[in-house]
Formats: sequence, structure tokens, C-alpha cells
Amino acid sequence: MAAERAGGGGRARKVVPKSDHDFVTGTSYAPAPESSDHVKLAKNYDLFIGGKWVKAGKRMKTVNPATEKVLAEVGEAGAKEVDLAVKAARKAHDSVWGKMPGRERGKYLFRVARLLQERAREFAIIESMDGGKPIRESRDVDLPLVAAHFFYHAGWADKLEYAFPGRKPRPLGVAGQIIPWNFPLLMAAWKLAPALACGNTVVLKPAETTPLTALKLAGLFEEAEFPDGVVNIVTGGGATGQALVEHPGLDKIAFTGSTAVGKMIQRSLAKSGKRHTLELGGKAAHLIFEDAPINQAVEGIVNGIFFNQGHVCCAGSRLLVQEGVAEEVIRKLKRRMETLVVGDPLDKNTDIGAINSQEQLGRITKLVACGTEEGARCWQSGQQLPGRGYWFKPTLFTDCAQSHRVVQEEIFGPVLAIQTFRTTEEGIEKANNTPYGLSGGVWTDKGSKIFKVAGAMRAGVLWANTYNKFDPTSPFGGYKESGVGREGGVHGLGGYLELQE
Ligand code: NAP
Ligand code: MG
Repeated sequence: MAAERAGGGGRARKVVPKSDHDFVTGTSYAPAPESSDHVKLAKNYDLFIGGKWVKAGKRMKTVNPATEKVLAEVGEAGAKEVDLAVKAARKAHDSVWGKMPGRERGKYLFRVARLLQERAREFAIIESMDGGKPIRESRDVDLPLVAAHFFYHAGWADKLEYAFPGRKPRPLGVAGQIIPWNFPLLMAAWKLAPALACGNTVVLKPAETTPLTALKLAGLFEEAEFPDGVVNIVTGGGATGQALVEHPGLDKIAFTGSTAVGKMIQRSLAKSGKRHTLELGGKAAHLIFEDAPINQAVEGIVNGIFFNQGHVCCAGSRLLVQEGVAEEVIRKLKRRMETLVVGDPLDKNTDIGAINSQEQLGRITKLVACGTEEGARCWQSGQQLPGRGYWFKPTLFTDCAQSHRVVQEEIFGPVLAIQTFRTTEEGIEKANNTPYGLSGGVWTDKGSKIFKVAGAMRAGVLWANTYNKFDPTSPFGGYKESGVGREGGVHGLGGYLELQE
């Protein structure tokens, strides 16, 4: 196991412990950084509009959060550029893409899927450099899922009539799509693939801190010879997103991001006639019962909250553990947290990479301080954090009350709030007691308990004896303040179609 972990087939080197943390874990790994020599990044990137690279009036920098070094400058689209992009998308929809037979659209999407597979290594490295996530995740989770999304939806392009029997599916027209920084390329794939398969054209705005893989993806659309204007990528910050939402030339807004911005978007769309889907925040709970496979559950909890630095909307950020096993679970969890490798995202041994931005690090730090002030007990593992860049130690809170902010609010960092419960009913009630309802987890040996909990949890996705598993065939979305509509699977297609009788 150690040999596998120490760098893709390399040999693990037992090193003399240099810190208390090494004594606790007993091992540390020789560095195994992925080479970035073959990655080609330009100094500047323009906006991708109407099949051409268009200069924006303003530029902004994107940095590597692990080193604080500037990676590139990208355009900051204003209302004028957003307008150009929407007009290009409309023209492409009305003249080519909306009329194209599904089997032809499918061929373009298959081409992009294959190009993504061919270039997966380069894309994974850029994703880790721009966003801070460990290469093991961008390489083994994000990129395979991105390609799978394009393959899956390419397959639907000529079969939409079969997805909705007795109805005539028609594209909506032009979709404006806004995505966050936690899974930059995967969120782009979640948005683009179904929209394009259904015959819509798109204007996509990536997040300000992670624009690079979306711009690289624009290059693949060029390489796949998509007709001009079918996909337009406009980089920029919140103001660019707002200009897109407010543009009267769109038929649909698809947004993934925070609940606060989602609510603003919903207000601004009221009476506009535009369709919308919103994928928003979450505060998911794991329920661990006394009969659960405890070691497996501990691994699942670690994966659920420390995976991708806790920058996951469906992160299992609350743990509800049945009283009889609480002490054992917490003890094992702390021991496992000590063994997590925090550091260089490009090192294949790394479990927890860099926090995406200084702003996000500030938000996490503030909420964690608030947890202690409100009376919860904070525990952090003993890793040494790198000197430069944005980092946060794996953290857990015990002695939490339901009213604590660390229990109620989304922290979006590697921070777990732990509470206990006695009966199944109490566990379910506590799990549902948040404004969110995106996901949840249940850990038990008993199948009937899984069905009972799954039926009673007000959450869009529920994993049983596992966590954070994704598949393009499966719909994803939230209850309550976690969103409106579903993405993925047949349900997701419905969000991009007019279904005529
Ligand atoms: P965010 O601040 O809401 O930003 C999301 C996107 O919206 C970014 O591209 C952002 O631009 C843009 N934006 C900001 N203000 C806007 C405005 N007034 N109008 C239109 N667009 C605007 O969220 P975030 O901090 O990037 O992402 C984290 C959040 O996303 C978390 O709450 C997480 O739970 C949620 N999320 C949900 C899902 C899901 O499927 N439910 C998946 C992933 C993430 P800039 O960032 O460039 O300023
Ligand atoms: Mg960046």
C-alpha cells in the first residue's frame, strides 16, 4: 500500500521523522511531483466569442493558490463582450446548431470527449495548478468524469424522443451558464454537455479564480471544429456573471454556486421568462449507526469532508454518530486525520491540497474561530503547513449544539462538525435541521434502516455505506435552499428542452 502511495509505482522511502507529525504517523513519503513540463500556458488569454479569440477591455490575473504565483492573465468581460457572446450564440443556434440533426451534434460531442481523454494529463495538471486540488483527484476523479459527461450526453443527442416518449423535444435556444471554482472543468462539463446535446448554444462564465481549464476547453471546441458561436466562454468576476444573468437575449440561466448568489439570481430572473436551474450550497450529514462497519465509515467520512479540501457542495460536513460508537469513531477519525498528507497539489502523495483563494481561506478561518467562540471544542491534526500559499489543517468540532454556526452554515473547507444521537428518529431530525438539502450519507449494516433513513432525509442525493460517488447517468440536485432543478441523467436533459405535446 505504502509503495503504491509513494508515487505511481515508485518505491516508498522510509525517512527519519522530522516532526512530531512524522512520529505520529510513522511514515512520510519521498516527494513525487507530477511534471508540468509539457503543460503549455500562455501569458494572456482572451475571450472565446463566435469562434474567435476576442480581447477584453480589462484583464485579471489568476494565481496558483499553492505558490501564490501568477499563472496567466485572462480577459474580464464587461456588458459589451457579454452582449457580443449572446448574439454569437443566438446566431449559431438559429442558423446551425438548433437545426442540426441530433446524430450530427452527437458526433461533435464524441469528438470533444475523445480529445479530453487524449489530453487528460495536461488538463488535470492545469486544474491542480489553477485551483489547488490534489493531482490524484483531478487526474483520477475530475478528468474521467468530465470525459464521461461528454460521452454520455453525446449518446443522447439523437435519442431525445426516446427520453421523453410522446413529446416533441425542442432546444430552448441560448443558455447562460455560470460555474464555481471547486470543480472548474467538471462543472463546465455538467453545464455544456447536456445543453449542447439538446441543441442549445451556450455562453459560459467560469469562476474568477479558476478560468484556465475552461479556456483550454474552448481550444478543444475549436480543434473539434464546432460551428462558430455554439460555445462561447467569457471570463470575469461577479459583475460578468451579473451581466450575463441580466442579458435579455437568453432563454435559460444555469447557475452553480452559493445560495446567496443563487437567491440574487432568482430575484433578478423573476418575470423575465427565462428558465433557470440552480445548484447551490449544502451542509450534508453522515448518520453513523452502532452497527455500521466503523473503519469503512471513518474512511468515508474522511473522503466526504477532506476530499478536495472540503470544497465540495455535497461534502459530508456534519457527522451524526450514534452514542454507543461515538468515542470509537472520533478516536479513529483523529488517528486517520493525522496521516493525511497536506501540501503540494502536484505531488501524487498529497491528500489535501491548497485552499482555492485567500478570500476562501479567510472565510474558513472566520467560521472556525466562531465555532470556538460559540462553545464547540476544536481539534486540528498536527501536520506542518507549507510556508507559502493558502492552507488549512484538517479540523473537527465536538460538543456542537444544533444552533452553532459550524453546524448550520456551509464552511466549504476541511472542517467537520460532530454531534451524537440515540434513536434513528433523533438522527434524522438533526440531519434535516438545516436550511440546506443537497446530500447525505448513512452507514449501517441493516438494509431496512438504509431505506428508512433515505426516505426520511430531505436531501437530493443519499449515499449508503459510501460517499461522494458521481456518475453522469444519475440526477443531482437539492431540496430547500440547495437549489432548483436537477443536472445529470434524463432529468438533467429536461432542463434544456421544450417538451411539446
Ligand atoms: P459564488 O460566489 O456564488 O460564485 C459562483 C459563480 O457565480 C462564480 O462564477 C461567480 O463569479 C459568479 N457570481 C458571483 N456573483 C454573481 C452575481 N451577482 N451574478 C451572477 N454570477 C455571480 O460561489 P463560489 O464561492 O464560487 O462556489 C462555492 C459555492 O458553490 C458553494 O456554496 C457550493 O456549495 C456551491 N456549489 C454547488 C454545487 C451544486 O451542484 N449544488 C456544486 C459546486 C458548488 P466569481 O467567482 O468569478 O466572482
Ligand atoms: Mg487560480
